[in-house]
Amino acid sequence: MSKVYAHRDLKICSKDCLCLFVCPTGATNNETGQIDASKCIGCGACAAACPAKAITLIPRKMPPQQKKTEEVIEALNKIVQNKILQLWQLNDLLQKSTSLEERKLWKALKHSNMVVLEDIMREKGYMLPESKNTHDFLESLKSEKDIDQKVVEQLLQSLEVNE
Ligand code: SF4
Ligand code: SF4
Repeated sequence: MSKVYAHRDLKICSKDCLCLFVCPTGATNNETGQIDASKCIGCGACAAACPAKAITLIPRKMPPQQKKTEEVIEALNKIVQNKILQLWQLNDLLQKSTSLEERKLWKALKHSNMVVLEDIMREKGYMLPESKNTHDFLESLKSEKDIDQKVVEQLLQSLEVNE
């Protein structure tokens, strides 16, 4: 099996279908819009052909996350807390504002805050698929009645802890 496989970002994809023509295995021709990782041989032809740069080759096995010192985690936690606080403030401003231009600005700031927040959480190691944090989070979902337990089990089996 190839060390990497192709992933299509549907938010960027302009649906001109060039990747369908160049893929030697038919992995890109999928009704879900996602590239079929089980058919992908990691040749990269689709990524090279994609005019929207919507395709990325990602490793099948993620490297272990880097160890963080307590000081770094503490600093990241503080940034996360500040970002969450800013999100509350922006929500408040959005609700109170009557100007369309102002509302656009608050929404854009909210979006940018969410992106930064997501990046920081990833940096902390909470969103790396093969981290212990992710594994513990999935384990904690086992007691949630509203969550499809088959999916939780599949994820737990497919995401090997690599720390
Ligand atoms: S080549 Fe790129 S933009 Fe075109 S369908 Fe494929 S992923 Fe989308
Ligand atoms: S990397 Fe190669 S095999 Fe995989 S989807 Fe792209 S073109 Fe197809």
